Amino acid sequence: MSSRRELILEEIGLTPLWRLKARDGEVRRDENQGETRSAAAVAPLVAKPVVPAIDADDRAGRIARMDWAELKASVAACTACGLRKTCSQTVFGVGDERGDWLLVGEAPGAEEDARGEPFVGQAGKLLDGMLAGIDLKRGEDVYIANVLKCRPPGNRNPEPLEVARCAPFLARQVELLQPRLILAMGRFACQTLLDTDASIASLRGRLHRYQGVPLIVTYHPAYLLRSLPDKAKAWEDLCFARRTMAGLRA
Ligand code: URA
Repeated sequence: MSSRRELILEEIGLTPLWRLKARDGEVRRDENQGETRSAAAVAPLVAKPVVPAIDADDRAGRIARMDWAELKASVAACTACGLRKTCSQTVFGVGDERGDWLLVGEAPGAEEDARGEPFVGQAGKLLDGMLAGIDLKRGEDVYIANVLKCRPPGNRNPEPLEVARCAPFLARQVELLQPRLILAMGRFACQTLLDTDASIASLRGRLHRYQGVPLIVTYHPAYLLRSLPDKAKAWEDLCFARRTMAGLRA
């Protein structure tokens, strides 16, 4: 590991957890405290894409035909749920539009709402550390988006109607990005993209699909800030994702 990365990881209190073994994609047992898995050993793929409900005016259909510029403008102007009334600005997503990796979180928090960029608060710092742990960097081969583009007041959980109204935007982002792999972080991203009520614990460790794109489930960085033991599991998920990506590129 480069000393710069070591410094960053130390700064955010992640060493030695987010440290890759020298051999690509392998996890040290003493670091992940669990079983290692290979991409080849994953469960069979279950294709279960979210099909956004078609409104009377075929809103989802129109969104599904937008290019990047139209999509960004449409998100910025959206009033399809009540959230735009209380948030400061929409948070579209950020990063490499030609990247192989798509990371999906829940919704903007206070700092994201103020800055217009996903994952720039405490959880974002942890996410940057997690990315550094697998040799990735925000904006370089990585795109980051949320299920909701507007901040729910007081960071409350997204409501089903808000998720339903916002889902076509994420669906179109995925189509335009055509990532090789999606990392869904936290309950709302996982349950929305996989159209399921299943727990993260039950979804982890398998390769799923969203709109045909391989998808891996992990815990939300904000949850990891409160739950140290599950950081080890998230590290397993990241290593699994890294191995899977290597397999997809081979
Ligand atoms: N949590 C999220 O899910 N997304 C953000 O952008 C910030 C915090």
